[in-house]
Amino acid sequence: MTRAYVGLGANLGDASATLEAASDALAHLPGTRLLTRSSLYISAPIDAAGPDFVNAVAALDTTLEAYTLLLELQEIERRHGRQRPYRNAPRTLDLDLLLFGDACIASSALTVPHPRMTQRAFVLLPLAEIAPDLRLPDGRTVYSLLPALAGQRLTRIASGPAT
Ligand code: ADP
Ligand code: MG
Repeated sequence: MTRAYVGLGANLGDASATLEAASDALAHLPGTRLLTRSSLYISAPIDAAGPDFVNAVAALDTTLEAYTLLLELQEIERRHGRQRPYRNAPRTLDLDLLLFGDACIASSALTVPHPRMTQRAFVLLPLAEIAPDLRLPDGRTVYSLLPALAGQRLTRIASGPAT
């Protein structure tokens, strides 16, 4: 069983509703339990086009392998109409595997920890909300990374699901 963290983001359509539906889909993955999901947050696009994003982070316990989990995440994206017309295009749903236990993975299809997670307030603040004591595989705490991101605008809009 591995504790995994998934970043959820959307900036097309009813993004909040999409994130609620995606959370539900995560809870129903095979061999997987959804432990918590953060509040929803609104962030301005970074390296991406289009309207503001709605973001959240979910914590899972899973018996899936990391790569299998990635394929399942991509299948959920696909069911929500995710298209990749060009790099960093607006997206109906983006699911990123942030952390997979203490694993460090650098293959062509999968990099874990997610390479940009430490620079993004929309990842680290929701992560700190649900896992305040979490450490990255390199030993850094999530909290120690937050001050550097203080300039990024992030608005909490709703609390997590009642589960
Ligand atoms: P973005 O980087 O904006 O999230 P995409 O969602 O389109 O871009 O992902 C592009 C590719 O990133 C995917 O095909 C996937 O194989 C790869 N990838 C590498 N590491 C990860 C990860 N940790 N989580 C999700 N996708 C990843
Ligand atoms: Mg992605």
